[in-house]
Amino acid sequence: MTNRLRKLLGGIFAFEAVCPILVLPAMLVSLWKTPATDGSSFSGGLFMLVFFASVAGIFGAASWTVSTGKRWARGWGIAASVLNVLVALPSLYFGRAPGSLLAVGIGMGAVGITGIVVFSIPSKFTTSTAGGAAYQSAPGDGTNAVLNRLVWLLGAILGVAGMRWWAHWSQVQMLPDQSGWIQTLWVVPVLAVTIVVHELGHAIAARTVDMKISSFVLGPLAWRITDGRWKFKFSMSGPASVGGAIGVVSTRADEPRWYRVWILMAGPIANLILGLIAFSLAMTAKDSYYKGFWGVLADLATINLGVFVVNLIPLRVGGFYSDGANIYQMLSGGYWADHHRVHALTVSTRFTGLRPRDYDLAAVDRLLPNAPSPFYVLFCRLYTYECHLDRGEMARALEALEKAEIASRESEENLTIEICAEFVFSLAYVKRDAIAARNWWRRLETMPPTISPSDYWLAHCALNWIEGDLETANQSWQKGNALAQLLPNAGTYDYDRQWFSFLREAIDQATVSSFVSVAPALSPSM
Ligand SMILES: [Zn+2]
Repeated sequence: MTNRLRKLLGGIFAFEAVCPILVLPAMLVSLWKTPATDGSSFSGGLFMLVFFASVAGIFGAASWTVSTGKRWARGWGIAASVLNVLVALPSLYFGRAPGSLLAVGIGMGAVGITGIVVFSIPSKFTTSTAGGAAYQSAPGDGTNAVLNRLVWLLGAILGVAGMRWWAHWSQVQMLPDQSGWIQTLWVVPVLAVTIVVHELGHAIAARTVDMKISSFVLGPLAWRITDGRWKFKFSMSGPASVGGAIGVVSTRADEPRWYRVWILMAGPIANLILGLIAFSLAMTAKDSYYKGFWGVLADLATINLGVFVVNLIPLRVGGFYSDGANIYQMLSGGYWADHHRVHALTVSTRFTGLRPRDYDLAAVDRLLPNAPSPFYVLFCRLYTYECHLDRGEMARALEALEKAEIASRESEENLTIEICAEFVFSLAYVKRDAIAARNWWRRLETMPPTISPSDYWLAHCALNWIEGDLETANQSWQKGNALAQLLPNAGTYDYDRQWFSFLREAIDQATVSSFVSVAPALSPSM
């Protein structure tokens, strides 16, 4: 939470750094024109120039260090916050008359006080580079590390330029003044509408190509399909506490690439359409009944056209890719297109009838030589293993499982309880290697129990079956199978239920053979 606030403040500081920079050239020119004989106005002008440049410098340094997680972020953050309060004080005191000045004063005061509180709290954030990693580019992802950070600046320049243009235009048109602070507050609902329209654009496009929506996030409000049902959650740590996001899943394995490109384009296009409508309405506001609301229309037009432009630039901001970056990656083919496809199919098995047998083995084979980390290699190996296993290609499945085990040694620290459970089940039931399965179970027991209970019991059942403890295996089967039957109708859950039914047969066969006083053939001699 405090980290999110710090980031938000970093963005505000960037905006505050740009505003004084924009007036510096005008000040320089006027200083140049001041005759040197006029000493007092020359030194006054020089003082203002130095003052504005220092303000820009402090806000710029604070924004840079905070958004990249540099060591001095706390110090600069506090300095910029105190500066906010100092600048706000006179406008709060004298600013009674012009409403907009008062609004700016209240805003800066609030930013300053929040900043002083937030940056006073010590945190790991300031000493790690994690903050910066979220803005780093990966090879071939279409983004640029410098542009990822400068986009705040670009957004601020577009915003200020837009505001100036509207202010000038409205004077020429003799429209009523809309710079009061009530009008300023209209920006909040305008932003909300902009985000909703953007995400609806993605959602409607997804429906036109028969893809499924799996989540819808608007700021802290999140709707997600969890285990087959739509659930609502309020959280301040969602992927976009200040934005929106939508989850889209493929319903067919042979999905054309242009489906995703069309869905990605539709968000910015929706903003373009709304922006153009708002723009033309504002243009004709002079003689209309909504004359008094031209400012809201102007905001809608500026923000939507701005979002349209900025979102189509390939960017990676705060760990998320812009639509432009995703479009670039899909169109460029190669690594990123394969990466998206391979991941999309694993996600689809949780929401549609697609199963591991529908995975794209050609794509994962192309990914492997370029895998960015050992953990990624492990993911690719397990993906291949599941696919072969579900297709009934046993020899290839076992080969992939062996490679997965080798890959797991390279990424010990990233292993999850789910991966451990998959190894326990696979080594016990598929490979019939009791010792290896037990070793993985020991590792599983040291991990936090974040696993779905049915997966846990599936692994436990297979382990006890291979070790010949049929009583325990049967109890685990009863618990796990009951839970598995409650899971929704989707590929990955059908896959789980299938293993429960196979294990049932295995337990029953082993029980029959132990009646004829032969120890279960598969039980190891320990
Ligand atoms: Zn989008």
